[in-house]
Amino acid sequence: MGHEVRGIVAHAKGAPVTVETVLVPDPGPGEALVVVQACGVCHTDFHYRQGAINDDFPFLLGHEAAGVVEAVGEGVDTVAPGDFVVLNWRAVCGRCRACRRGRPWYCFNTHNAAQSMTLPDGTALSPALGIGAFVEKTLVHSGQCTKVDPAVAPEVAGLLGCGVMAGIGAAINTGGVTRGDSVAVIGCGGVGDAAIAGARLAGATTIIGIDVDPRKLEWATDFGATHTVNARESDVVEAVRAATGGFGADVVIEAVGRPETWEQAFFARDLAGTVVLVGVPSPDMMVPNIPLLEVFGRGGALKSSWYGDCLPERDFPMLVELHLQGRLPLDKFVSETISLDDVEQAFDKMERGEVLRSVVVLAKSEA
Ligand SMILES: [Zn+2]
Ligand SMILES: [Zn+2]
Repeated sequence: MGHEVRGIVAHAKGAPVTVETVLVPDPGPGEALVVVQACGVCHTDFHYRQGAINDDFPFLLGHEAAGVVEAVGEGVDTVAPGDFVVLNWRAVCGRCRACRRGRPWYCFNTHNAAQSMTLPDGTALSPALGIGAFVEKTLVHSGQCTKVDPAVAPEVAGLLGCGVMAGIGAAINTGGVTRGDSVAVIGCGGVGDAAIAGARLAGATTIIGIDVDPRKLEWATDFGATHTVNARESDVVEAVRAATGGFGADVVIEAVGRPETWEQAFFARDLAGTVVLVGVPSPDMMVPNIPLLEVFGRGGALKSSWYGDCLPERDFPMLVELHLQGRLPLDKFVSETISLDDVEQAFDKMERGEVLRSVVVLAKSEA
């Protein structure tokens, strides 16, 4: 049995991706087969292609996706054929020590499909983030499928599956941003702009977008930044203090993932403020030389945000609803829609900083 479909495969470190025939098995116990309708192009896909995540080539790329369940395996009762779902890469187990302590967003034993998708010669593919969704149909664990209102466009909904959720969650879940807060966001690409949108949604009154690229500062304003700072032209810490009565921001979200920007975040917050690191550093980066007395004396919290500390079942449907009510402009993250054959060019545009998100559209909404 199984299904023969087209998908985007990264064969070797740094090599351009190619469209290949992929064999997808029928769902086994606990699994779901999903017809992918749309999938965003994320930096993480590019990092897989570059061999920057691990060496488990060949990879089936793509992980920010929405689609329709075609079939489910034995024992699946959370989704059914015909359901419109957003795919997530943290299907919580409900049994590990984090889940048992009531903090399932930290789950240490998340689920993926047990069976492999393969190339025609039988070579198993490593799916990006346990999903693999630049493909016409994908096989995932049923817990990776979160039902949302099908009134939302798939190319918009899919983005909640990764970067946009990471940014919104960094603000509202990890950072705990609330009414009247001041928030600074360093790095105004997809994740940073989502953090700005999240801060606005939560009622922050001062939102400072910080970047070195004027185009990204325009995006930041569009998503709700009340102030912008070009880090090439101004001292970031001084500029944040100037925008917050001289004190610093209540919450500073670092969406770059570099030691120098993390250090700016550390000093740009108010006393007892919070730093949230959502940008992903590379292994060679070290925490900068900050006096331990400053860590103690400034108080507050230094946090990291995994996937926006989200619970897909709780957060995806809620954010889709807010979008449909016109209160969260998720559609603004979609810079362009492209076809499966255009992923390699989309990586170039992303690396040049020209797009927030290119989204591959595979199947029509009425599927
Ligand atoms: Zn768990
Ligand atoms: Zn991603």
